[in-house]
This record gives sequence, structure tokens and C-alpha cells, in this order.
Amino acid sequence: MDSVRDFPQTVDGRSGPAASGEWIDSRDPATGTVWARIPRSDAADVDAAVRAATAAQPAWWGQPALVRAAHLRSVAAAVDAHRDDLARIETRDNGRVLTETAGGDLPACVQMFHFFAGAADKIGGDTVQVGPASVNLTLREPHGVVGVVIPWNAPLSLMSAKVGAALAAGNTVVVKAAEQAACSVLHWATLLADAGLPPGVVNVVAGFGEEAGDALVRDRRVGRLTFTGSTDTARVIQARGADLIRPAHFELGGKSANLVFADADLDAAAVGVSTAAVFTGGAGQTCVAGSRILAHVDVVDELVERVRAVAADVVLGDPADSSTTMGPLVSAEQLERVRRYVDGAPAEGATRVFGGRCGGSAVFGVDSPWAGGYWVEPTLFRVTDQSAPICREEVFGPVAVVLPFTDDDEAVALANASTYGLAAGVWTTDLRRAHRMVRDLDAGSVWVNAYRRIHWALPFGGFGDSGFGKDSGWESVLENTRIKTAWIDLS
Ligand code: ADP
Repeated sequence: MDSVRDFPQTVDGRSGPAASGEWIDSRDPATGTVWARIPRSDAADVDAAVRAATAAQPAWWGQPALVRAAHLRSVAAAVDAHRDDLARIETRDNGRVLTETAGGDLPACVQMFHFFAGAADKIGGDTVQVGPASVNLTLREPHGVVGVVIPWNAPLSLMSAKVGAALAAGNTVVVKAAEQAACSVLHWATLLADAGLPPGVVNVVAGFGEEAGDALVRDRRVGRLTFTGSTDTARVIQARGADLIRPAHFELGGKSANLVFADADLDAAAVGVSTAAVFTGGAGQTCVAGSRILAHVDVVDELVERVRAVAADVVLGDPADSSTTMGPLVSAEQLERVRRYVDGAPAEGATRVFGGRCGGSAVFGVDSPWAGGYWVEPTLFRVTDQSAPICREEVFGPVAVVLPFTDDDEAVALANASTYGLAAGVWTTDLRRAHRMVRDLDAGSVWVNAYRRIHWALPFGGFGDSGFGKDSGWESVLENTRIKTAWIDLS
């Protein structure tokens, strides 16, 4: 049995426990046992962190952009040097398989800091020719302190996208990591002093959402808020901050549709709608999970059989093992939530095609080392309409529904019949259909003959209940600035 490891918070360049000295247990979701402790940061810690970020910001913004860029490249180098350790901590903490964290997220985090380093000296305003008697300029300046609230499903990569963009634009940050899986981001913050980052530029606290999170989003010194999490929490934050007039970015949930047309390459589509979309290494706990599979009536039966075959090859087990393709859910609460959807679906008119076992002992047997973990096997339901909660609400697990359509118009109508608008997938070999779908689907990202492709150079974010604003890409840098207009009279 490993000893329980403590991960400190980092405030003003110093790493240590919360001011209260209290800790929160962090469980290994594969086994359900406590493996680490994170600080129970509260309002006092957030106050110190925001104070430090506020004090550090003028000097951070006041230096040449290339110096900021050099700092961001040092952060990239530190992430690169510790990538294996960081990936293993994240996988242990949230259960997402190491092949995804080490193989995908960590290399991407390194590149993100390089991308934003490259952006730092390219931010600028315009000159506007109003007339001969004045010079008119726009200048882009930072918001000041950016509050960064992140969830547990991909902490390092979500943090890197938000923090990289904020720092490049001259802001300093206070990051609130999620109580379910904060360890990787807390550990990352301890590397920053050695990387030469000035104290206070990046502060990372943990703690509960209603304590540390609430204190951060209610702090008037925070000039911009960027949040990734659930739509329900975003509503709470908006309501709690009704008296605060400030820019915010919300990247929220989804109920994304993955459309398979009769002309699709069905082998590629079967993978694209299953292991690429919802039976993922993080067990479908991704905001872009393709949880609604819409298939043309002529191919739906064949597709279901191929998806069944792909799902049969999904390997659940030690998330750090390279042969494992799907990890557990993050917590007992998440397991109970998914179990409710799975157990309730038949009464709502859904027919189970495969899967449905929830809980470590149900999936592996009571004697397995994973019996106490939060496991759910890949699960597919067939439905005839989208009225059941499992078709409308975000399940956040390896659970999908499949529904037939008869023509393109119906496919678009079904896909868009959601309050969310985060992402969509399209499987077709017809170029015109592909472009029509990109045009007509009400989603912030549309993938054609691909799914869940996210890149630091591409803006990412949703519409409707999926939020507004963008992570990544040049847009995310611009959103981290505010525009000042100057009128210089020449008369
Ligand atoms: P999920 O459903 O993915 O767990 P949440 O929206 O609950 O997502 O959490 C995302 C982040 O928001 C976490 O860091 C969590 O601590 C934080 N959070 C939760 N509730 C609040 C709140 N009332 N105010 C601020 N932050 C919160």
C-alpha cells in the first residue's frame, strides 16, 4: 500500500498547506481508496492568491512581450521535463488512461505554452482613419487578474489553454482546481519557481467549489473569469455574481450528436462514434462526448453491429497500463449519477443493446482489485425518439444512444434538437453533404470523418447551454485583452 501523498497549493510563489491547515482526501477512482490529500483552500487562501496576483500583474504586463514569451517557454520546458510524472499523477487522480494523458495531453500542454509564447508579441490594436484632424487608435491591454476555474476530467490541458492565453496577454492568474482531481495542477504549480516565473504570476489553490470556487468568482479584484465545468454550476456562478459587471468565459456541457450517413465508411464511423467519441480513455467524461449517435435508417443496424464489435475490444483495467483503453469514472457521486441514467433508461423507452453494468464489483467481480472503483462498462441504448432524459441530459459516462433518421433534413433537426451546442460529428463521403452539415449544425465544433479533435491553434467553445467564449487559438488570446480607444486631436 502506497503512503498517502500531500499536494500543496501555491500562492505568491510559496507552496504549502491551506491557511486553515485542513486537507481533502483525494481518491484513486480505479480502486476507491485514498491516495493523496489536497489543501482545503478557502476564502482566506483565495484572498491571499488574488492579492499576490494583483501585486504581480503590473510588472508582468510592464515587461517586454518577448520576456513574457521567454517565461512561457520556460514553463513549456518545465512541463516537458516533468511530463511523465505529471501524466502519471493525473491518471492516478482522475482515472483517465495513461495512453491519453501521457500520449496526448502532456505533449499538447508543452505545445500550448509554446503557442502562447509565440502569441505574446503579436498582440496589437488598430489605427482607424476617422479624419485628418485626429489620430485614432485601439490598444489591447490585459484585464488584470484572471480567475481560472477548471474541472477534473482534463485538468492540465484545460489549465494550460486558459493560463497560457491569459499570461501571454499580460494578465496574472489564480487557478482553482477541482476537488475531485486537483493533484496534477497543484504539482505543476510547484515547478514554476524553478522555471523562473516571478511569484504571484500564477497561483493555484484547490478546495471545494462552494468555498474556494465561490470566493474566487465573487472577488471584485478578478477582472475576468474563465470557467470550464457543468452548465448547472455556471448558472450558480452567474447568479452569485449578478452584481459583478465583468467579462467571463464559460465552457460547459454538451449532448453532442454524431451523424452517420448511408454513404459513410462504416468501419471508420464505428470507431468514430464509439471509442473516439464516448467509450474514451476517460470513460466518456468529456464535454464533447458524442453521446447521441444518429444513423441513417439504411445503415443503422449494420453500424450497431460494428459498434458492438469495437466496444467488445474496449479494455477496462489499470489506467496506467498501456493495454487499457478505458478508465473508471472519477467519483462515487459520478458513478451513482450514471447508474441512475442507465437504470432508468428502459422505463423511458430505451432498449439496451449492450453494457449497463455499473460499479467495480459488477464489472470485475467482488474479488478484483478494482471492485471498489467507479467503473462503468461501455453501454449503448437504442431509442426511437429523443424524449428520454438519457437523450437530452449530459450523462458524463461511457453511455450513448443510437437513433435512426431518414434524410438529411431530419438528421439536422434531430441533431439540433438540444439546448446544448458544443460539438457534432459527421460521417459521410459526400463533400457537398459535409459542407452543408458544417453550415447547418448548431455546434461550436463540427468534425467531419473525425471526432474529438482539439488543437491549441483552433478556438474551442460552444453555443447555447454549452457556453460562450473560446479556449485556444488566437481568439482566446484576444478574449484575454480589453480594447481601449484613443483619440488624439491634431488641430
Ligand atoms: P463537474 O460537473 O464537471 O464536476 P462542476 O461544474 O461541478 O463540474 O465543477 C467545475 C469546477 O467548478 C470545479 O473546480 C468546482 O470546484 C468549481 N465549482 C463548483 N461549484 C462552484 C461554485 N458554486 N462557485 C465556483 N466554483 C464552483
